[in-house]
Amino acid sequence: MSKKISEQREHSFFGDVVNYFERAAKYTKFPKGLLDQIKDCNSVYRMKFPVRLKGRIEVITAYRVEHSQHKLPVKGGIRYSTAVNQDEVMALAALMTYKCAVVDVPFGGAKGGVCINPRAYDEVELEQITRRYTSELIKKNFIGPGVDVPAPDYGTSGREMAWIADTYAAFNPGQIDAIGCVTGKPISQGGIRGRTAATGKGVYFGVREAVSNKDDMKKLGLTAGLRGKSVIVQGLGNVGYHTAKFFQEGGANIIAIAEYEGAIYDKNGLDVEEVFKHRKKTGSILNFKNAKNIKNSAKALEMDCDILIPAALENQINSSNAKRIKAKIIAEAANGPVTPEAEKILLDKGVLIIPDLYLNAGGVTVSYFEWLKNLSHVRFGRMGKRYEELINKTIVESIESTTGKTLNTKQKRIILHGAGEEDLVNSGLEETMVNAYNEIRETWKRNKRIPDLRTAAFVVAIEKIANSYIALGIFP
Ligand code: NAD
Repeated sequence: MSKKISEQREHSFFGDVVNYFERAAKYTKFPKGLLDQIKDCNSVYRMKFPVRLKGRIEVITAYRVEHSQHKLPVKGGIRYSTAVNQDEVMALAALMTYKCAVVDVPFGGAKGGVCINPRAYDEVELEQITRRYTSELIKKNFIGPGVDVPAPDYGTSGREMAWIADTYAAFNPGQIDAIGCVTGKPISQGGIRGRTAATGKGVYFGVREAVSNKDDMKKLGLTAGLRGKSVIVQGLGNVGYHTAKFFQEGGANIIAIAEYEGAIYDKNGLDVEEVFKHRKKTGSILNFKNAKNIKNSAKALEMDCDILIPAALENQINSSNAKRIKAKIIAEAANGPVTPEAEKILLDKGVLIIPDLYLNAGGVTVSYFEWLKNLSHVRFGRMGKRYEELINKTIVESIESTTGKTLNTKQKRIILHGAGEEDLVNSGLEETMVNAYNEIRETWKRNKRIPDLRTAAFVVAIEKIANSYIALGIFP
């Protein structure tokens, strides 16, 4: 499946990112040399390593690309897919640089990829491959809490991150911050509460902010707010599942979900948790309760809806299907799901595209919080929660004794609650996504020549990175 997607790509993914960059750079005033330095990849490491699997030796191809080292460490996920190639990893690394800048995460961008189909290996084999990949990264100093910090991406999860952290620690005995060499780890291995759901939650916060603007919605013929909006989600993996779940909780109507085995549709709305359980049990989303099966999964993208959320892979909306897309808003939860050719067609139709480099930045934002937690060696909220609760209790008692009235149980629960780790993570994530959206939107609206939100997001990113380089003193 993934191979097919990669072969169908209209042209170089990295070339697309460079084109977006150049289109946006026209709206800035930085010298060409500085812009060239920003857009190129600083280090590209392609490796081949042998792994002994069930008595045979397999040679695995893998990559780690550090796009921009203007801030260290650099950061970006690791993807396991047969579609992984150098061009893709370079593109995704570049997107990470711009993404971090847009959401004010003080990292440069990177990405890793291992060219395997993770479904073709058992757990022990995947552990062997992951540990060997990590040792290759260690050999060349492409991993470390102050150098390069990977995270999960397509085809990987907390499980692989735990293997990576353990391998790094084994090669670096006594390094006190070793656990900060990777994020997206399970909680028991130094992970942070809220990281698994973070990208999806960030997508939710981002779209909620976008649709809250009455003027922008009016132009699309929509009312403000998420409640009642019809939504189609492609991909029920980490990002798609959490995104769909938060949208449903936020009052949206998930009318279709597409997976690689097919899609399901129910105009009355799908219960995301139930669909997830059904897929776990039967191995497929098809044949779910009263929902209609759609054999050709890609057709689900073309159905009538307010918001279409591609949350699977790149290149899903391209010149061959863009004309038939009916959604008024496309929320890019995946990286690069809309090709530039498709984007042109969609923008001409008046579709609002909320770009990947902003919208799926929730993952890296919470990864940043996890890294901070690892370096501080203490869970957020551990020191202050009880103290906060004590102060709050004293305030409530003072209010009650002064007014002679008693607060109801719900009011008391909210006021008395001291912030725990997940509360702080979600608060930081919401603050980040809301602020970043408004910064991008204001840039878009302030300069009438900037054509769309993606270009505006790139302008915001380029300005921050260029100013950082200038402050470093590399450029006069
Ligand atoms: P994942 O592997 O958990 O899930 C991807 C899902 O998409 C899988 O369930 C897969 O079966 C499905 N899929 C694959 N091809 C499909 C197709 N043609 N049609 C329908 N479904 C298809 O991966 P993920 O972590 O959820 O990542 C998804 C996207 O989000 C990727 O583009 C990734 O780069 C991006 N992203 C992920 C994170 C993160 O924190 N995981 C952060 C930022 C961006």
